[in-house]
Parts: sequence; structure tokens; C-alpha cells
Amino acid sequence: MEKERTLMLNTPYYYVDETLLIQNLEILKSVKDQTGCKILLAQKAFSMFSMYPLISQYLDGSAASSLYEVKLGHEKFGGETHIFSPAFSEREFDEILQNCDHLIFNTPAQWKKFGQRALKANKMCGLRINPEFSTQNPEHAIYDPASEGSRLGTTLSVLTEALPDLNGLSGLHFHTLCEQNSDDLAKTLAVIEEKFGALLFEMKWLNFGGGHHITREDYDLALLISEIKRMREKYDLEIYLEPGEAVVLNTGFLVSEVVDFVENAGVINAILDTSAATHMPDVIEMPYRPMVIGSHEAGVCQYTYRMGGPSCLSGDVIGDYSFSTPLKVGDQLIFTDMAHYSMVKNNTFNGIGLPSIAIKQQNGEMKLIKTFGYDDFKMRLS
Ligand SMILES: *Cc1c(COP(=O)(O)O)cnc(C)c1O
Repeated sequence: MEKERTLMLNTPYYYVDETLLIQNLEILKSVKDQTGCKILLAQKAFSMFSMYPLISQYLDGSAASSLYEVKLGHEKFGGETHIFSPAFSEREFDEILQNCDHLIFNTPAQWKKFGQRALKANKMCGLRINPEFSTQNPEHAIYDPASEGSRLGTTLSVLTEALPDLNGLSGLHFHTLCEQNSDDLAKTLAVIEEKFGALLFEMKWLNFGGGHHITREDYDLALLISEIKRMREKYDLEIYLEPGEAVVLNTGFLVSEVVDFVENAGVINAILDTSAATHMPDVIEMPYRPMVIGSHEAGVCQYTYRMGGPSCLSGDVIGDYSFSTPLKVGDQLIFTDMAHYSMVKNNTFNGIGLPSIAIKQQNGEMKLIKTFGYDDFKMRLS
């Protein structure tokens, strides 16, 4: 019976491979075990809550960036529930308080506005600092919270002006990395110590944010571990990491099917039943070219295709890929590394349906978790 259902899964669908996820979680757990730090899942990257019971066996809690994420983390993940927002709104604040234990404020003004209420409710309060030190490629400003003029985090000069009002804060938070190795973390920590070191001695915890590509093959775990230990011991701090991408890196897949071919000026377009614009928006936003299992760079093998979605957007192109045998209508193509920043960013532009969500279980069987339909499109419109 199970087998038959597996075969009946309609494309497009995402699946997350439990075995691969556990491999990542073991790596993260080893960092915790060797350093005593705490690790939270950043739900912004991955909110597939059917996986939370598994992930919560390894990690300490969840990090949220909005009311809905914090509710989901509180309801489905358990453990510690942290929230950062660039600006908490009065309208949502009481409900946020009911669903979290740590709040991170973006500015002294927000701390001034909400801090006493949070402390009265026995919440841990922190301030996000901006070290104004970027380790990212300057062309990637969209993913660089430390870029000049950024609205994310409090700079040293703003903090210094507000200093007398910061009593009651128990932690600091920074987030400046994106898909980076621990050498960039070490450089960032050096700047943070230089600028904010005096304040760190007065804090109970420091959150290193996300963007640590911990589960990538070439990641320097030894340096991460020594930096965590060093900061922990020197300032007597509880250290938190809140990776999103690294938790589910290389664990998710998007399975799609070839629907038709369109030739134009020597380009053979393969039209798929999945779309960059709606199902993998980072392909256009980041931008990047996802891997397809069994494919090569354009022109490497005999048959090259430009993969495009079924939307009317001419730029709904996933990339150019070559194969050693020709593709045909009905062939399945599997895009890799599709767990993070995919499901959470899906949309129904053009009335395109949302991919189903499945789990490849440890026993190898595929389990369908959810399918979507017309109502999911209609529900958000009026
Ligand atoms: C985006 C984000 C994360 C997670 O980042 P990843 O690159 O997915 O690890 C963690 N913390 C904050 C504050 C973020 O904005």
C-alpha cells in the first residue's frame, strides 16, 4: 500500500529526507556538546513543522522574526522560543509576549517602549547590535545586515547615547553572516569585542545569529567551537546560535515534471510544472542556479535545455542544463537543496498551485504530508 502511494505522488512536490536531516542535526548537536552553547532553529528559513518533533530532539528551541513564526515555534517546537523583530508593533505585542521567552529589540527606542512590560512578564530581553563590519560580498547587500545604512541592529554610536537606559537587558544579539564560514565569524567577533566588549561583561547571553554554514562540507567546525568557548569563558556568557539554512542544508528536494518544449533561436526551453517565481524565488532573488540530479552545465553534454516555469513571466527561468540523453515530456527532474527558503517563500502568482510536501522517512518510504489546491489560492484573495 505504502509503495503504491509513493508512486502516486503528483509533481510538483518537495520532500525532505529524514536521514540527511539527522546527519545535519548530529553535527549541530556535536557543536552543542563540545561547547555548551544552545542552538535554535531560525524558522524564517524552514517552517515545515511536521519536522519539528525530530529537530527538537537535537536543538534547544526556535527563533522567530514575527508573531506568526513565534506562535508556530511555541505551539509546535517547544523548548526556548526567541523572537527578534525590526520593530514590534503595539497591536501584536501582548500576543508575542504570550508566545516567547526571549525578546530581542532592534533599537533602544523599542526597548524603552516595550522593555518594562517584557520584564514584568519574566521575559529575557536583548538588544540587536550592528557591528558595522561586513564580511560579505558587496554585491550581496540584500543579504547583508551590516551594509552601510542598514536598518538592522543598533550601532555603537546610537547605543552609546542610550547607554543609561539599557539597564535590564540581559543579552546582545548580532546577525551579519549569510552562508559563511567560521573565519568570517571570528573576524566579526573581534570587531564586536573591540566595540561592545565592555558591555558584554555585563550580559548573561550573546546570540551569534544565523548565516553559519555549519553543515557544509568545508566548514571549519574547530574554529567555530574554539570561538564559542572563548566568548563563553571570557565574558561568562551563554552563547546562542540560530542557524536556519545550516539545519536543513542539502536535505530537501523539489520533484517536477517536463510538460513541453519550446524552441526559439536555437534555445530549447523545457517547460516544467514547477516555477522559479513561485516555488524557488531565491533562484531569481539571490540569484543562483539550483542543481538538478543527473544534469551538467549547459553545453557539457549533448542535449542542453533552458528550464522554465509555467508562469507568464518571461524571467521565470531556473537555468540552463545539459543531459547525455534527450529529455522527453513526462520526465521527472529533481532539484536539490530545496528545503530552506523555499516552502516559506512560496506564492501563488499566476494562479500556480503550491507543491505538495512529503517526507522521505528513515526506512526509505515516502510519506505525503500535505497537498494544496484551488482554495489555497483563493483564500488569500477576495
Ligand atoms: C535570517 C536570520 C537567521 C537565519 O539565517 P540563515 O542564513 O538561514 O542561517 C537567523 N537570525 C536572524 C536574525 C535572521 O534574520
